[in-house]
Amino acid sequence: MIALMFGPPGSGKGTQATRVALRLGVPHVAAGDMLRSEVARDTPLGREAKPIMDAGGLVPDDLVVRMIDGRLNQADASAGVLLDGFPRNVPQAVNLDTMLARRNENVNDVISLEVPDEELKARILKRATTEGRSDDTAEGLAQRLIVYRQETAPVLEHYREVGTRIEAINGVGDIDAITERIIDSLEQNGVQVSSA
Ligand code: ADP
Repeated sequence: MIALMFGPPGSGKGTQATRVALRLGVPHVAAGDMLRSEVARDTPLGREAKPIMDAGGLVPDDLVVRMIDGRLNQADASAGVLLDGFPRNVPQAVNLDTMLARRNENVNDVISLEVPDEELKARILKRATTEGRSDDTAEGLAQRLIVYRQETAPVLEHYREVGTRIEAINGVGDIDAITERIIDSLEQNGVQVSSA
Protein backbone atom coordinates (compact mmCIF):
# COMPACT_ATOMS: atom_id res chain seq x y z
CA MET A 1 0.00 0.00 0.00
CA ILE A 2 1.59 3.26 -1.12
CA ALA A 3 -0.58 6.16 0.00
CA LEU A 4 -0.02 9.92 0.01
CA MET A 5 -1.33 12.35 2.60
CA PHE A 6 -1.87 15.52 0.62
CA GLY A 7 -2.90 19.04 1.62
CA PRO A 8 -1.76 22.60 2.23
CA PRO A 9 0.56 23.62 5.10
CA GLY A 10 -1.46 23.57 8.32
CA SER A 11 -4.09 21.17 6.95
CA GLY A 12 -3.25 18.58 9.59
CA LYS A 13 -1.39 16.17 7.29
CA GLY A 14 1.12 15.17 9.95
CA THR A 15 -1.48 14.60 12.68
CA GLN A 16 -3.78 12.59 10.44
CA ALA A 17 -0.94 10.69 8.74
CA THR A 18 0.37 9.41 12.09
CA ARG A 19 -3.08 8.03 12.91
CA VAL A 20 -3.93 6.66 9.48
CA ALA A 21 -0.52 4.95 9.08
CA LEU A 22 -1.19 2.97 12.28
CA ARG A 23 -4.55 1.83 10.92
CA LEU A 24 -3.01 0.88 7.57
CA GLY A 25 -0.11 -0.92 9.27
CA VAL A 26 2.54 0.97 7.31
CA PRO A 27 5.19 3.49 8.43
CA HIS A 28 4.43 7.21 8.28
CA VAL A 29 7.18 8.81 6.18
CA ALA A 30 7.12 12.59 6.67
CA ALA A 31 9.55 14.55 4.50
CA GLY A 32 9.35 17.64 6.74
CA ASP A 33 10.09 15.61 9.89
CA MET A 34 13.03 13.87 8.18
CA LEU A 35 14.41 17.24 7.08
CA ARG A 36 13.97 18.74 10.57
CA SER A 37 15.85 15.73 11.97
CA GLU A 38 18.71 16.40 9.50
CA VAL A 39 18.73 20.05 10.67
CA ALA A 40 18.74 19.02 14.35
CA ARG A 41 21.66 16.62 13.72
CA ASP A 42 23.48 19.35 11.77
CA THR A 43 24.18 17.02 8.83
CA PRO A 44 25.35 18.42 5.45
CA LEU A 45 21.78 17.99 4.14
CA GLY A 46 20.41 19.72 7.24
CA ARG A 47 22.78 22.66 6.83
CA GLU A 48 21.70 23.10 3.22
CA ALA A 49 17.99 22.69 4.01
CA LYS A 50 17.59 24.95 7.05
CA PRO A 51 17.68 28.42 5.45
CA ILE A 52 15.40 27.24 2.63
CA MET A 53 12.89 25.75 5.06
CA ASP A 54 12.89 28.86 7.25
CA ALA A 55 12.09 31.00 4.20
CA GLY A 56 9.21 28.68 3.21
CA GLY A 57 10.86 27.45 0.00
CA LEU A 58 11.37 23.92 -1.30
CA VAL A 59 14.60 22.04 -0.61
CA PRO A 60 16.19 20.94 -3.96
CA ASP A 61 14.46 17.93 -5.49
CA ASP A 62 17.58 15.78 -5.86
CA LEU A 63 18.28 15.96 -2.12
CA VAL A 64 14.70 15.17 -1.09
CA VAL A 65 14.31 12.43 -3.70
CA ARG A 66 17.50 10.73 -2.49
CA MET A 67 16.34 11.00 1.12
CA ILE A 68 12.96 9.38 0.32
CA ASP A 69 14.49 6.71 -1.94
CA GLY A 70 16.76 5.71 0.95
CA ARG A 71 13.80 5.55 3.31
CA LEU A 72 11.81 3.33 0.92
CA ASN A 73 14.74 0.90 0.90
CA GLN A 74 14.45 0.29 4.63
CA ALA A 75 12.95 -3.04 5.67
CA ASP A 76 9.87 -1.61 7.40
CA ALA A 77 8.76 0.03 4.16
CA SER A 78 8.51 -3.26 2.26
CA ALA A 79 4.74 -3.57 2.85
CA GLY A 80 4.14 0.04 1.92
CA VAL A 81 4.25 3.55 3.36
CA LEU A 82 2.10 6.56 3.97
CA LEU A 83 4.01 9.52 2.51
CA ASP A 84 3.44 12.98 3.97
CA GLY A 85 5.01 16.10 2.46
CA PHE A 86 6.37 14.23 -0.56
CA PRO A 87 5.96 14.65 -3.50
CA ARG A 88 5.68 18.43 -3.22
CA ASN A 89 5.97 19.29 -6.91
CA VAL A 90 5.39 17.48 -10.21
CA PRO A 91 9.09 16.62 -10.81
CA GLN A 92 9.17 14.92 -7.38
CA ALA A 93 5.97 13.03 -8.29
CA VAL A 94 7.54 11.83 -11.55
CA ASN A 95 10.63 10.74 -9.59
CA LEU A 96 8.46 8.92 -7.06
CA ASP A 97 6.57 7.10 -9.82
CA THR A 98 9.91 5.98 -11.32
CA MET A 99 11.25 4.87 -7.93
CA LEU A 100 8.09 2.84 -7.33
CA ALA A 101 8.02 1.38 -10.85
CA ARG A 102 11.52 -0.04 -10.21
CA ARG A 103 9.94 -1.88 -7.27
CA ASN A 104 6.88 -2.94 -9.34
CA GLU A 105 4.75 -0.60 -7.30
CA ASN A 106 2.78 2.60 -7.78
CA VAL A 107 0.86 5.15 -5.73
CA ASN A 108 -2.40 3.42 -4.77
CA ASP A 109 -4.25 6.18 -2.99
CA VAL A 110 -4.11 9.94 -2.39
CA ILE A 111 -5.81 11.31 0.72
CA SER A 112 -6.45 15.01 0.08
CA LEU A 113 -7.26 17.19 3.11
CA GLU A 114 -9.29 20.26 2.21
CA VAL A 115 -9.08 23.30 4.52
CA PRO A 116 -9.88 26.96 3.69
CA ASP A 117 -6.98 29.48 3.74
CA GLU A 118 -8.34 31.51 6.67
CA GLU A 119 -8.40 28.39 8.84
CA LEU A 120 -4.85 27.44 7.72
CA LYS A 121 -3.51 30.84 8.75
CA ALA A 122 -5.20 30.68 12.15
CA ARG A 123 -3.86 27.17 12.80
CA ILE A 124 -0.28 27.94 11.82
CA LEU A 125 -0.10 31.12 13.85
CA LYS A 126 -1.43 29.15 16.82
CA ARG A 127 1.15 26.38 16.24
CA ALA A 128 3.87 29.07 16.20
CA THR A 129 3.10 29.86 19.83
CA THR A 130 3.13 26.21 20.97
CA GLU A 131 5.68 24.29 18.85
CA GLY A 132 8.16 27.03 18.01
CA ARG A 133 8.90 25.76 14.49
CA SER A 134 11.30 28.23 12.90
CA ASP A 135 9.24 28.37 9.66
CA ASP A 136 5.93 29.09 11.42
CA THR A 137 6.01 32.86 10.96
CA ALA A 138 3.51 35.02 9.07
CA GLU A 139 6.04 35.48 6.22
CA GLY A 140 7.05 31.79 6.21
CA LEU A 141 3.42 30.75 6.00
CA ALA A 142 2.57 33.22 3.24
CA GLN A 143 5.48 31.87 1.19
CA ARG A 144 4.53 28.24 1.87
CA LEU A 145 0.98 28.91 0.69
CA ILE A 146 2.28 30.47 -2.53
CA VAL A 147 4.59 27.49 -3.11
CA TYR A 148 1.70 25.13 -2.30
CA ARG A 149 -0.60 26.70 -4.90
CA GLN A 150 2.03 27.02 -7.61
CA GLU A 151 4.01 23.80 -7.17
CA THR A 152 2.24 21.35 -4.88
CA ALA A 153 -1.42 21.61 -5.95
CA PRO A 154 -0.51 20.37 -9.50
CA VAL A 155 0.66 17.08 -7.90
CA LEU A 156 -3.01 16.27 -7.24
CA GLU A 157 -3.78 16.88 -10.93
CA HIS A 158 -0.87 14.60 -11.87
CA TYR A 159 -2.38 11.71 -9.90
CA ARG A 160 -5.90 12.52 -11.13
CA GLU A 161 -4.63 12.29 -14.70
CA VAL A 162 -2.95 8.91 -14.20
CA GLY A 163 -6.18 7.63 -12.60
CA THR A 164 -5.03 7.19 -9.00
CA ARG A 165 -7.84 7.01 -6.46
CA ILE A 166 -8.22 10.34 -4.64
CA GLU A 167 -10.08 10.64 -1.34
CA ALA A 168 -11.26 14.25 -0.91
CA ILE A 169 -11.65 14.81 2.83
CA ASN A 170 -13.07 17.81 4.66
CA GLY A 171 -10.18 18.71 7.00
CA VAL A 172 -12.17 21.06 9.23
CA GLY A 173 -13.53 19.86 12.56
CA ASP A 174 -12.61 17.55 15.38
CA ILE A 175 -9.32 15.62 14.89
CA ASP A 176 -10.96 12.25 15.65
CA ALA A 177 -13.86 13.01 13.34
CA ILE A 178 -11.47 13.81 10.47
CA THR A 179 -9.59 10.54 11.07
CA GLU A 180 -12.90 8.68 10.87
CA ARG A 181 -13.80 10.46 7.62
CA ILE A 182 -10.51 9.27 6.13
CA ILE A 183 -10.93 5.70 7.40
CA ASP A 184 -14.54 5.54 6.14
CA SER A 185 -13.49 6.81 2.74
CA LEU A 186 -10.63 4.27 2.51
CA GLU A 187 -12.96 1.42 3.54
CA GLN A 188 -15.58 2.46 1.00
CA ASN A 189 -12.89 2.11 -1.61
CA GLY A 190 -12.08 -1.39 -0.43
CA VAL A 191 -8.85 -0.59 1.43
CA GLN A 192 -8.15 -2.92 4.37
CA VAL A 193 -7.98 -0.88 7.60
CA SER A 194 -7.38 -2.34 11.07
CA SER A 195 -9.63 -1.34 13.98
CA ALA A 196 -8.52 1.55 16.21
P1 ADP B 1 4.01 22.06 6.32
O1 ADP B 1 3.23 21.03 5.56
O2 ADP B 1 3.30 22.53 7.55
O3 ADP B 1 4.47 23.21 5.46
P2 ADP B 1 6.32 20.21 6.50
O4 ADP B 1 6.83 19.73 7.80
O5 ADP B 1 5.65 19.21 5.62
O6 ADP B 1 5.34 21.42 6.88
O7 ADP B 1 7.51 20.91 5.65
C1 ADP B 1 8.29 21.95 6.18
C2 ADP B 1 9.29 22.45 5.15
O8 ADP B 1 10.22 21.40 4.80
C3 ADP B 1 8.72 22.92 3.81
O9 ADP B 1 8.23 24.25 3.86
C4 ADP B 1 9.95 22.77 2.89
O10 ADP B 1 10.87 23.83 3.07
C5 ADP B 1 10.61 21.50 3.41
N1 ADP B 1 10.13 20.32 2.69
C6 ADP B 1 9.31 19.34 3.19
N2 ADP B 1 9.06 18.41 2.27
C7 ADP B 1 9.69 18.81 1.14
C8 ADP B 1 9.80 18.28 -0.19
N3 ADP B 1 9.17 17.14 -0.56
N4 ADP B 1 10.55 18.95 -1.10
C9 ADP B 1 11.18 20.08 -0.76
N5 ADP B 1 11.13 20.63 0.46
C10 ADP B 1 10.39 20.02 1.41
